[in-house]
Amino acid sequence: MLDNIRDLYQEVVFDHNRNPRNFRVMENANRTVEGFNPLCGDKITLYVKIDDGIVSDVSFQGQGCAISTASASLMTDIVKGKSEAEAEHLFEVFHRITTSQDAAINLDELGKLAVLAGVRAYPARVKCATLAWHSLQAALKNQTSVTTE
Ligand code: ZN
Repeated sequence: MLDNIRDLYQEVVFDHNRNPRNFRVMENANRTVEGFNPLCGDKITLYVKIDDGIVSDVSFQGQGCAISTASASLMTDIVKGKSEAEAEHLFEVFHRITTSQDAAINLDELGKLAVLAGVRAYPARVKCATLAWHSLQAALKNQTSVTTE
């Protein structure tokens, strides 16, 4: 693990937890998912608005630890405006970099997503970081709830 990614990760988690982006109820969402991580107690409600295959808006509410809140904040920031296929691809990339210890981290390719690879330094917290992403995937599949267990 590159030390600079771990440092950046801590910085980003601190910033996004203190000032979460897209933290609001969305009245006109056409997908809503209740996500739960029983391991830590993190709860999230993810609101997604999909127009013609584009994730035109995404927001969340919920209560959880700093990592789950920061990860949800960052996820909403990253996927807003992407196509459903691009969002699905981002989920797969995120899943690979957070769960596989030897997945290569290419900063240029990953952009903002790269910092989340920093969670690998804290294996017990991986499910906190993945909750929002599993919720996103559930929304893309038109499901209404998901747990990380
Ligand atoms: Zn947590």
